[in-house]
Amino acid sequence: MTGVAGVEPVAEARELVEEARRVVVLTGAGISTASGIPDFRGPDGLWTKNPKAELMSDIRHYTADPEVRVLAWMDRLAWADVDARPNSGHMALVALERRGVLDTLVTQNIDGLHHLAGSDPAKIVEIHGTVRDVVCLSCDDRRPAETVLQRVRAGESDPRCERCGGILKSATISFGQLLVQADLRRSVEAATRCDLLLAVGSKLSVYPVAGLVPLAKEGGARVVIVNAEPTEMDGYADVVVRGDITTSLPAILGVPTG
Ligand code: NAD
Repeated sequence: MTGVAGVEPVAEARELVEEARRVVVLTGAGISTASGIPDFRGPDGLWTKNPKAELMSDIRHYTADPEVRVLAWMDRLAWADVDARPNSGHMALVALERRGVLDTLVTQNIDGLHHLAGSDPAKIVEIHGTVRDVVCLSCDDRRPAETVLQRVRAGESDPRCERCGGILKSATISFGQLLVQADLRRSVEAATRCDLLLAVGSKLSVYPVAGLVPLAKEGGARVVIVNAEPTEMDGYADVVVRGDITTSLPAILGVPTG
């Protein structure tokens, strides 16, 4: 591994990107913090500051405890009110795609900002789901989140499914829920066939997604990691760039900013 901070690792990473013909990008919460959405485990992360918030992301607590659901709906309203917009990190990935070398964009993010930035939906795998939809945990009815958020704004603190009365939840994957197997398969296949894996804004501590890094490496791909702090997968990286994503990612991808 080389790199860590400064101009040199950015230049090294840029060289690897220029040589690559089939790139898989793996993004985490760190790419969206500059858009106003806090991460969970970074120094200012929601769970770092308030470990109890993690309970809302566990399906067992969510289904068993109405208070957890009420807090979760308040949280969803707050997310919706942020009206987050893509930043230069998301836009740099759109530019990479336009060069024709992006194979798949696997995101752990649930914020929909890669879609909003203009990335091709066919190339995106939202491996942890999305907050743009709401699903019923009993009958699987799925509809746009805004329709349910309007009911919460109107005073329903724990809205129920209009079809069957079941518990409603964001269409995200909580702890205790299985990933969508087709999404996982797509991600594994992409990591196996890529020649460069670019991991951006994740501590790479959540499995099975973090496992895509060693998988790509074993398949012969080069690995570049861009994150403000050390990750659990830095040992697999050919280059680690420790810097702010909004400036370092455009620089690595050769995209002018501002
Ligand atoms: P994480 O919270 O574990 O790690 C984020 C990392 O990004 C941290 O190491 C942090 O230091 C770094 N970081 C933050 N801002 C940065 C910046 N501007 N430049 C460089 N680095 C920066 O994130 P994770 O690995 O994605 O795991 C969190 C889980 O929670 C995800 O699986 C996701 O489903 C969910 N989540 C999603 C969002 C979102 O959709 N935006 C936000 C919070 C959490």
